[in-house]
Amino acid sequence: MPSHKRLLILDTSAILTGIQSSLPNTDAYTTQLVISEAKRKLMEENKSDTLDIRSLIIMEPSLEAVNSVITYSLKMGEKSNLSPVDISVLALGKQLLDDSAGEIEILTDDYSIQNVANAFGLKFHSIATQRIKKQIRWVYYCKGCRMKYEIPPKDMLCAVCGSEISRKPFKIQNIK
Ligand SMILES: [Zn+2]
Repeated sequence: MPSHKRLLILDTSAILTGIQSSLPNTDAYTTQLVISEAKRKLMEENKSDTLDIRSLIIMEPSLEAVNSVITYSLKMGEKSNLSPVDISVLALGKQLLDDSAGEIEILTDDYSIQNVANAFGLKFHSIATQRIKKQIRWVYYCKGCRMKYEIPPKDMLCAVCGSEISRKPFKIQNIK
């Protein structure tokens, strides 16, 4: 008999809603980077440490999974929109997806995380916002000289002419 237990991976936005306390028949995973970020955000907002993490399984993704996710995020033009925390969540998702035949989903309100998750076949679900309906591959370009960048410079200024760098969809696919 197949198991109907759900596997969920939660990012910081998901954990801050407290949804992990109300997920029956679910193994809810996250990374230590997510926990640290969620605690820091609560402190910044002067909320006492009300974070309920008792039901969470904290696990670190393998280096292999991290590298794989970085490759996907570069391909999708999302690398500069993803923090190391975001990468850790996606990498854990990639690892669990590769290891498991079960139903597995990532819970996140972040469009860039959803976009990259979709690129490697990980299902996603959002809590507060509408989930994305299209997978977008971004291309970065200079508004001045039109130079294209796979990875934009950190200051978002063109290395050739100094103009501002912008991004536009390069390829758009519908998500079922
Ligand atoms: Zn330029």
